[in-house]
Amino acid sequence: MQTHGVATCVGIAWAVLLAVPIVSCSPASLSDNSTRTPAKGIDVGKLARFLSPTAKILFPGSTDFTAYTARWSNLEPPTPSIVVVAGIEKDVSKTVKFAFDYNIPILAYNGHHGTHTTLGKMDYGIEIYLPQLNTITIAKDMTSVTVGGGVNVKTLIDTLWEAGKQAVTGWCECVSFLGPALGGGHGWLQGHHGLISDQFLSMNVVLANGDLKTIDAHSDMWWGMRGAGHNLGIVTSVTTKIYDIVSPNWAIETIIFSGDKLKAVYEAANKDLLQNGTQSSDIHNWSYWQNDASLDPNNPVIIMFVVQEGVDVVDPRYTTPFHDIGPLMITPQSGTYKDLAAWTGIAKESPPCQDFGLNNPRFPIYLNEYNTTAMQKAWDIYAPAISGENNPYSLSIFMWEDYATAGVRARGVKSTAFAFRQDLILAAPLIIYAPNKARDLAVEQLGNKLRELVQEGTGRGSELHAYVNYAYGTEGPEAWYGYEPWRQNRLRTLKKKYDPKGKFSFYGPIA
Ligand SMILES: Cc1cc2nc3c(=O)[nH]c(=O)nc-3n(C[C@H](O)[C@H](O)[C@H](O)COP(=O)(O)OP(=O)(O)OC[C@H]3O[C@@H](n4cnc5c(N)ncnc54)[C@H](O)[C@@H]3O)c2cc1C
Repeated sequence: MQTHGVATCVGIAWAVLLAVPIVSCSPASLSDNSTRTPAKGIDVGKLARFLSPTAKILFPGSTDFTAYTARWSNLEPPTPSIVVVAGIEKDVSKTVKFAFDYNIPILAYNGHHGTHTTLGKMDYGIEIYLPQLNTITIAKDMTSVTVGGGVNVKTLIDTLWEAGKQAVTGWCECVSFLGPALGGGHGWLQGHHGLISDQFLSMNVVLANGDLKTIDAHSDMWWGMRGAGHNLGIVTSVTTKIYDIVSPNWAIETIIFSGDKLKAVYEAANKDLLQNGTQSSDIHNWSYWQNDASLDPNNPVIIMFVVQEGVDVVDPRYTTPFHDIGPLMITPQSGTYKDLAAWTGIAKESPPCQDFGLNNPRFPIYLNEYNTTAMQKAWDIYAPAISGENNPYSLSIFMWEDYATAGVRARGVKSTAFAFRQDLILAAPLIIYAPNKARDLAVEQLGNKLRELVQEGTGRGSELHAYVNYAYGTEGPEAWYGYEPWRQNRLRTLKKKYDPKGKFSFYGPIA
């Protein structure tokens, strides 16, 4: 029962639970959202016939379409024409094959926290919504778990916790398990076990031509999937290692300083936490530069978290050096691993996990130590740029993440496509502002300037190490995947073999 171009939906509702009335399948009603390119040329009726009864096709104008196309950051967001909500893994492969055959752009949506500005190049086509692929199956021998391609971090942590288990996952409760992992993946347990993707044992992945393959360490794709995976396929499920919960209890001290203490604070962090790369695997240190008018009405403050595993109070040998600097406030807390996200402001209910409709670009850079001279220069630009009454960037956060890294560095530097194993700190200004085209360029310049100042303190010249999952989008493949020619060649070879048409190139494209 097809018409030209887009099909009517009559006769296919048995196969697909359509979330809008039949009439909204017509091209005219698809164009009701003026910022979207209508799905002309996408034969929805034909696509629907390939899908399972648990799949849905959503169109602009429906509540679900609006909900499932929302982004965490609205700077250069993708604007798909229709959404396929995958009900089973095969729905992904059928949709990708359909898009391959008819040369239609596709993009997997998972936690929707990806921020690359290149995502905006997806201005037409099919979004493949993964969160309904949400199965979690712990193996009988309790050493691994098979996780659906759309499982969210918090769901996985909670499910494993109930079983007395843990996995290396992202720390933030609102992102997907796989989105971070495919770019390497940082999390609280990486100091013991390595990156999220270092734990993988096998995965089901849909290739650009729609083939659904199970791969493991024997596949040539395996290396690339763990660091540059967004480029090579859509992972519909993954089997990953799990561990006994050795230390359920964790403690934190949140220590807040005024900006004039910057040098003293980060010199202490270098000496007493980082310790020239010998930081304990039980210790993590994060800090945010952000406004808190109750503490300093004119400037941002430095919010320092010292987090320790396996204790109820953070060992004073890590915190006393900071107390001695004269903080504005000290807040100790204790609990379990599951409290960490709330303590550090990234629980599902925390502001960073909400879709406020703001623009949230980051400008990431990996470091090996805190260079306080470079940081002071960055502060001197950042503080006035985000402070003051009615400042449009007042919600911004300059993030400095010093996770325990021993487990990451213990693996061979060439072992996966994640290139920056030896780096110790992940920093990034996150400039938050309401969408306003007139501000975009100034924000990009500010973010790049701040990053350049920090870069000057690395001694790496112009060699930028940028976490692909925090990237602004213009850094380029060497900054995301490493400068060694062999890395770039290996990635290009994989891309050519597995995605020659560049179907998976809206996020951190290899070439
Ligand atoms: C609030 C917040 C917290 C964060 N916390 C962490 C963290 O704890 N650890 C960390 O390392 N990073 C973290 N990040 C960065 C994070 O890795 C990236 O934002 C990542 O893109 C999020 O993935 P997503 O699934 O949420 O987003 P999405 O925008 O849905 O996906 C991002 C990209 O990955 C692709 N993708 C997603 N799932 C799949 C899949 N199954 N197969 C193939 N491609 C897929 C999408 O197509 C898209 O291109 C955080 C970011 C934010 C904003």
